[in-house]
Amino acid sequence: MTEHETTPRHYRIAIIGTGFAGLGMAARLKRAGLSDLVLLERAEDVGGTWRDNTYPGAACDVPSHLYSLSFAPNPGWSRSFSGQREIWEYLRGVAEDEGIRRHIRFGCEVRSCRWDDGGNRWSIRTSGGTITAQFLVSGAGALCEPSLPALPGLDAFGGTVFHSARWDHEHDLTGRDVAVIGTGASAIQFVPQIQPEVGRLHLFQRTPPWIIPRHDRDITRAERWLYRTLPFTQSIARRSIYWGRESYIFGFVKNPNLLKGVEAISRAHMRRQVRDPRLRARLTPDYRAGCKRILLSNDYYPCLERPNVSVVTDGIAEVREKSVVTRDGTEREVDTLIFGTGFHVSDLPIADRIHDAGGVSLTRRWGDDPQALRGTTVAGYPNLFILAGPNTGPGHTSHVFFIESQINYTMAALRHACRNRIDRLDPRPEAQAAYVEQVRRKMRGTVWVTGGCDSWYLNSQGRNVTLWPGFSWEFALQTRRFDPHNYHLRKEGPIRRFPSRAGR
Ligand code: NAP
Repeated sequence: MTEHETTPRHYRIAIIGTGFAGLGMAARLKRAGLSDLVLLERAEDVGGTWRDNTYPGAACDVPSHLYSLSFAPNPGWSRSFSGQREIWEYLRGVAEDEGIRRHIRFGCEVRSCRWDDGGNRWSIRTSGGTITAQFLVSGAGALCEPSLPALPGLDAFGGTVFHSARWDHEHDLTGRDVAVIGTGASAIQFVPQIQPEVGRLHLFQRTPPWIIPRHDRDITRAERWLYRTLPFTQSIARRSIYWGRESYIFGFVKNPNLLKGVEAISRAHMRRQVRDPRLRARLTPDYRAGCKRILLSNDYYPCLERPNVSVVTDGIAEVREKSVVTRDGTEREVDTLIFGTGFHVSDLPIADRIHDAGGVSLTRRWGDDPQALRGTTVAGYPNLFILAGPNTGPGHTSHVFFIESQINYTMAALRHACRNRIDRLDPRPEAQAAYVEQVRRKMRGTVWVTGGCDSWYLNSQGRNVTLWPGFSWEFALQTRRFDPHNYHLRKEGPIRRFPSRAGR
């Protein structure tokens, strides 16, 4: 389809993105017999965040057996916590094995989606032309748009600048004077990797994270053989990791005081790895563990005591052509600035590109207070499903589990539409409001709002719009079935070509 064609190609379902969400959704649809679908991918390969985050040391801090699609297990994981490359290869394998590649338009960036009320379809303008689709699924994810702080003077910096999610592999760091800004999940992984090669490393820490040991190990050949030969053994491993992680919710949601245990583990870890008590004091958080993501690392603390590393806790006042100046007036000469400053999350970037029939974008509708029924569907935006939507993130377990729950919900909705000849599903505003209120009630008292920290989980009013406040199985139960009574449903002629076996 080109810009000049007049009748856009129509699909039953259009999916934005080819990370875990987009590929998982496409795989489930294809398994259900539906192949009238297209995936729109702005890059030249699949993989989402696991394609983009190639920084040194990039790895997942959720064990591999759990951090994968339940219906596409990988008996070949080489480590208990897989690295970026292996997870990316896994996703490429899923795209291949499930026959999804031929449905993907690569290099095709979604510019604007608008609900066409008369045509009862989504009109989707992309860099490769316009298409239409009856249903639109966003698998664009929350961790895709890097967030760069607007530091005064940054434009005048004469050296090399990049974000951890857009690592500049052409830039040789050997002997460089580097400033790293941020001490979150990404930075604590790449800082120990680059420290041995750089000249000086100034690590600008605004808030220290709680860090506990990372129990990583090789998965033996015998184990891999076992998982391949007797797949149920991998399923047992997956379940035991899953239930172990669920126990965190007692601290995160039910009684944050229980998280003092995690703080004790972290303090002991720091005492073993950092000799200088003054440095330990600066690395010790003053908020309850879990309020921000609890991080795992065995090599971060030791590297902070290397002679070429300084941990800077004074705030950054400005950036100059060859230096970074802190509020106490100290100027540090650097030639490379690396931002480990996270992503736009509560201001979901794709929301700016999805419009209702009147042209109002989700961003305008939401502000920074995104709301959706079961984190997935939005009143006024019919036939839209947002994977990784508001309050569907985990603070304790695999995000893939939540994505799969939303995929189950989307499949159930589509199955209902198919069986009942419904061509429009639009959540009732009152049902959406009641759901959002229920989530907010559950959020009260959680460590994310009472733990004494500021985090990217919270919006400008201090509301956690990112995480699910409960056990992940509660979310799975809530999304297991479609709830037609919560929707305005429009019946129209038979929906042709939609397979009646659109089951799970
Ligand atoms: P992040 O956790 O949001 O950390 C950003 C860091 O940058 C924080 O230390 C933050 O300080 C700092 N920062 C932000 N703006 C700043 C400013 N203007 N001045 C100084 N410091 C500033 O980002 P991330 O490390 O990229 O991780 C994002 C998310 O990606 C994680 O929470 C996690 O969900 C995911 N992730 C997962 C893994 C994994 O192993 N599965 C690995 C990497 C990332 P404050 O704390 O003070 O805001």
